[in-house]
Amino acid sequence: MMSDQGSDHPKEECGLFGVYGVPDAAAHIQRGLFSLQHRGQEGAGIVTSDRKQIRSTKGLGLVNEVFANKTMSDLPGDIGIGHVRYSTTGSSKIQNVQPLVVECVDGIWAIGHNGNLVNARALRKMYQEAGAIFQTSTDSEVLVHILADPMYRARPQRVARALCELEGAFSFLIMTKDYIMAARDTNGFRPLSIGKMGDGYVFASETCALGQVGAEYVRDLEPGELVTISEAGLTSTVFREPRKPLAQCVFELVYFARPDSDVFGENVHDIRLKYGRRLAEEYPVEADIVVPVPDSGNSAALGFSQGSGIPLDYGFIRNHYIGRTFIMPEADQRADGVDLKLAVLPAVVKDKRVVVVDDSIVRGTTSKCRIKSLRRAGAAEVHVRISCPPSAYPCNYGIDFPTREELIAGTHDLETIKKFLDADSLGYLSLEGLLSPLKAPDDYCTACFTGKYPVDRSEAGDKKALENDTMELGFERHE
Ligand code: SF4
Repeated sequence: MMSDQGSDHPKEECGLFGVYGVPDAAAHIQRGLFSLQHRGQEGAGIVTSDRKQIRSTKGLGLVNEVFANKTMSDLPGDIGIGHVRYSTTGSSKIQNVQPLVVECVDGIWAIGHNGNLVNARALRKMYQEAGAIFQTSTDSEVLVHILADPMYRARPQRVARALCELEGAFSFLIMTKDYIMAARDTNGFRPLSIGKMGDGYVFASETCALGQVGAEYVRDLEPGELVTISEAGLTSTVFREPRKPLAQCVFELVYFARPDSDVFGENVHDIRLKYGRRLAEEYPVEADIVVPVPDSGNSAALGFSQGSGIPLDYGFIRNHYIGRTFIMPEADQRADGVDLKLAVLPAVVKDKRVVVVDDSIVRGTTSKCRIKSLRRAGAAEVHVRISCPPSAYPCNYGIDFPTREELIAGTHDLETIKKFLDADSLGYLSLEGLLSPLKAPDDYCTACFTGKYPVDRSEAGDKKALENDTMELGFERHE
């Protein structure tokens, strides 16, 4: 039975932003987090240091909601890290909002994480058996316990050794009163960039956030690299040799990252244009207009238009005031099939053969609803083109996909999906088309399309696994 529930995009993951040696750190972090809002809308937090004291604030909601009644001057200092969160593990509760701030015997540590640690449950169990008390249901908290472990505290390369215990996807920002550290996992799953701002440094999940604060892009962190910035300047260590080939998340390029970012050495807009052009070659169609599903389908639709010669037009208008997608799932499931987020322009689509270009189909329900809206507005034909291969497998590396059973392409062939959507034709970009425009095509994870998982995920469990482990102990958080 085909699922009729939920949204047609995987959920965003998390965004990191940090500064060192930048006066008014908090105000700059807030600006940076605004630019990374698309990576997580459930919660946000900022931690700063004036080198004497660490201060933090965090809350549930969008950046402008969380910090609406907060004055950034209450967070003085020139060192700081910030985080926007979407819960890929743990639930959407305030204690799970990052940066996590903890007190160890040798001082305060603040940690922000983007990704998903596939061995977090095993590490958590091991530390709990040794007496550790966990305060959140996030996978990220295990790093805190490793850092606090006396065995690691004694080691000179303490953070580097601790990072070696972690498996899966991570980009971390770690901060103390005096310095900031940044690390990227050995597979390179998630992006993390370094920028320069005056005499100071900036870290950001995406380069679009560097521009937002006037920082200049310097370079990406290398997979397996740990960068420390302190009074002594910038030092770099390889905590573990990079995996060969890498497993950078290709979905960052397809959907997650902002088009004005450079990710993994690729310009996101440019790659999406290429995907659209390639899609026009692979699945040509006779039609009158190409219509993007805004906003993430915009670049690929332009590419399809360029490749096919069919003019682009704006058949959908996005309602920017609907609110966060995560609190509006029912908006996609309304029985009358009206999509609250996108409105059709009848004057554009009436009596036209329309090619709709989108970046992915997850459950299929929202796409179905949009095709219905186009037909209701008088479209003569609706052809669907998707700028990546069918999403058939879930992700365990930091992106919240539904289960394989819930993914429409996980259990149905293209003809069945086309019929379910009520499309006149349906075409997905091939895997070859996805990878061939990239500078290092072998260095990407494609598991959600191919089922070939680059890192063992058998112990990871699903998004709720850590929460469920806690509930099995007889406790459910409702703070
Ligand atoms: S499974 Fe898909 S979404 Fe997850 S890291 Fe790999 S490419 Fe990215």
